[in-house]
Amino acid sequence: MVGGAHSTGFFLYGFSGMSIVVQKFGGTSVADRGLILAAARKAIRAQLQGHQVVVVVSAMGKNTDRLIQLAREIHDNPPAREMDMLLATGEQVSVALMAMAIQSLGYEAVSMTGAQLGIVTDDSHTKARIQSISADRITEALSQGKIVIAAGFQGVNERHEITTLGRGGSDTTAVALAAVLGAERCEIYTDVDGVYTTDPRLLPEARRLTQISYDEMLELASAGAGVMHNRSIEFAKKFSVPIYVRNSMTDARGTMIVADPESPHQPVCGAALVKDQARISLSGVPDRPGAALTLVSSIAAKKIAMDMIVQNVGEDGLADISLTVCRDDLPTALKAVEEAASELDAEAYDHDDDVSCVSVVGLPMAEQSGVANKMFRALADAGINILMISTSHIKISLLVSRESAIEALQCVHEAFQLERAPEPRPAESVPARPHGPASLRPARNSNGVAIVTKMQGMEGLIVEGITLDESQARVTLYSVPDTAGLAADIFDEIAAAGIVVDMIVQGHSVEGTADLSFTFPKEDCATAVEVAERIAKRLGCHGVTSCPQIAQLSVYGIGLRSHTQVAGQMFESLGAAGINVEMINTSEICVSVVVDARQGAKGLTALENTFREFIL
Ligand code: ASP
Ligand code: MG
Repeated sequence: MVGGAHSTGFFLYGFSGMSIVVQKFGGTSVADRGLILAAARKAIRAQLQGHQVVVVVSAMGKNTDRLIQLAREIHDNPPAREMDMLLATGEQVSVALMAMAIQSLGYEAVSMTGAQLGIVTDDSHTKARIQSISADRITEALSQGKIVIAAGFQGVNERHEITTLGRGGSDTTAVALAAVLGAERCEIYTDVDGVYTTDPRLLPEARRLTQISYDEMLELASAGAGVMHNRSIEFAKKFSVPIYVRNSMTDARGTMIVADPESPHQPVCGAALVKDQARISLSGVPDRPGAALTLVSSIAAKKIAMDMIVQNVGEDGLADISLTVCRDDLPTALKAVEEAASELDAEAYDHDDDVSCVSVVGLPMAEQSGVANKMFRALADAGINILMISTSHIKISLLVSRESAIEALQCVHEAFQLERAPEPRPAESVPARPHGPASLRPARNSNGVAIVTKMQGMEGLIVEGITLDESQARVTLYSVPDTAGLAADIFDEIAAAGIVVDMIVQGHSVEGTADLSFTFPKEDCATAVEVAERIAKRLGCHGVTSCPQIAQLSVYGIGLRSHTQVAGQMFESLGAAGINVEMINTSEICVSVVVDARQGAKGLTALENTFREFIL
């Protein structure tokens, strides 16, 4: 029996012992009458199992695309406000039909638009961010035993103007509602069986993962695995909402996205490819505080997300900075680079728009050595040249030529035996919602009823921590020949000497050679220099420099890539403190820089001051 009779506040937010489940159905899962009815049955089944159910739906099939097309036929550059009015209708159609479908099956349901759901966003039409959700209306309907059908992708700003959250935004609606309602889990029904070790359309041997962590999913998604809207995962992580990605057509088991997956024995959980990348490099940049900032902020100012940002230790006081952007953004990015180059007095800049980025991601790699070597070796064996290297704690990204991209992905997938399953986890053991950080859990009033009317800045940046690591040393090899297989040989030799490498940065090659820096425990410095000198001699490199102790400063958080200004703010803060950044690497969940060891503590203070308001 579903509790229509109960009406007191104690039955809100699952306090009745009745847990809330949010189910989201994407466009392909509600594309026609039959599919809508199938989805309706899933919602009813969850209710019969004793849950309160909120169903979030996207526009049917390709309706959003069709609406965009219609707009373009009328106006070359449709005004954003009217675009939102138009696009929101797609979801309004599907919520109404879904509510009717449930009612036709004999159960109670009520559809709600973004405004009726209480979803308030900022003013950025067509790419709005959620600011708060007042869930009273939803909880009231739930406590009356109704299934609530929520329109995905939409909200209203403070002036009641309709806004939309950007393409694919229904995922974000679903996770945000799950967060606010304290739902036990958020089920995402889609047209794939779950999250795979890599895109199964690119590699048929890709395998579905049983579980994956938020961090791995965030890194994989930004490295090219397009399963869910990235912002929805940020939300899920921020509010500890377990996500269950499942195929709406089959009863396949799907993938759980959780904080702490039952760890498999593989160091890497997946590989991803961003095919259409472009590399931009500035060389001969005076190696002084703030140089990286000028370039990064000029590109960020044009709202272009940067993927790999690689700065190598300067030679003769000059540094090289390379970064990659989506190929479509190249023309705009180049304009920004031109401005930055003249401001910086850089010697030269160039670009290559025929490159792809292959990445591997895995939480365990933070504690295991040899992962990078394995990836280098896989490409070496296939004769694929590595154009750029950037590693972070749980991701290694390599830039390769576009023509070798698929082969590179395949070799890497095979090298890590990603097609082979680790021990599977029992079918439906969905972990209970872990407790999120106290400050993020909805406050409760004296009756124990959650008050969620305002969760300010739901989509704001969160910095989880700032760390200073002074335990490492650095070695740089200058002018390493740019030949396939060299990275593999070099790092095998270094590993054979017992050195566990942490960060590796290889910039793009100029005139056939590139500089290669790596960090490792400082006790091993003498050995590392010895090995590096041996390698340099054999390969005819320009030379080797080393630094017996470096300071690595890292900012960990959520949404570091989508909040493009984070890397910029970090450089600005260090630049203002007069601290020169020697190496950089960025990822979705962490931005790290290497600075002079004597500057570590000062850098830490500067960063803490800059990010204080965002720290959890
Ligand atoms: N209907 C919107 C889109 O197609 C939102 C969504 O599907 O998540 O982008
Ligand atoms: Mg869609």
